[in-house]
Amino acid sequence: MSTTKGLLFDAFGTLLELEPPAPALVRELRDGWNIELSRAEVERAFAAEASYYRAHHLEGYDAASLADLRLRCTGVLRDNLPEAVRERVDPAQLMPVFLRSLRFRPYGDVTAALTRFRSAGLGLAVVSDWDVSLEGVLDVCGIARLVDHAVSTASVGAAKPSPEVFERAIRLLGLDPASILHIGDTPELDIAGATAVGIASVLIRRDGGPGPKPDPGVPTITTLAEVNGTLLKPPG
Ligand SMILES: [Mg+2]
Repeated sequence: MSTTKGLLFDAFGTLLELEPPAPALVRELRDGWNIELSRAEVERAFAAEASYYRAHHLEGYDAASLADLRLRCTGVLRDNLPEAVRERVDPAQLMPVFLRSLRFRPYGDVTAALTRFRSAGLGLAVVSDWDVSLEGVLDVCGIARLVDHAVSTASVGAAKPSPEVFERAIRLLGLDPASILHIGDTPELDIAGATAVGIASVLIRRDGGPGPKPDPGVPTITTLAEVNGTLLKPPG
């Protein structure tokens, strides 16, 4: 068994969570346009937008394409909001409101865990299904300074579980895949993708609930505090 020298982390659902965006949008539409919507109406529109984003996030690979992707996401959100919004608010007006409502934050255990891994001398990289704004989001969340590299799938042009994003991180860390452990929350993307390039993985289940079962032999954790001596292979 190789000594663990590096860790890869998925971002959304592993390091970062989204603050519920609907209340902010409800508030801004009320204050800015005097349009009163229920939280449920706005949540439905955000669900449609999130689904569109997941299918199209690779299309935000530089500043111009990201701006275009964000405008299309705003359009999907608006198309799924009630008629009062569609009649009175155009996508260009809605976009800044939409972007302000998307606020990511690190889970409570993340900063301490990354600091601990860094002090232990491990190489750390984020590998995420995200557009090219990934590094900026990690920076705002205080995580960018705690990891060595951040690789978005949009920057490599292939989504998980394709090997590209993992291979880029392996090259950047300069480590043997056998000495790397990947931690992610989605078995079919994180575990399958890491396994395909020879990286061992751990499934993190933030809600602690029963979810899809990973392959036998893939440990399941609920917090990064559990990534310790039994999961990290020591030298020798
Ligand atoms: Mg995830």
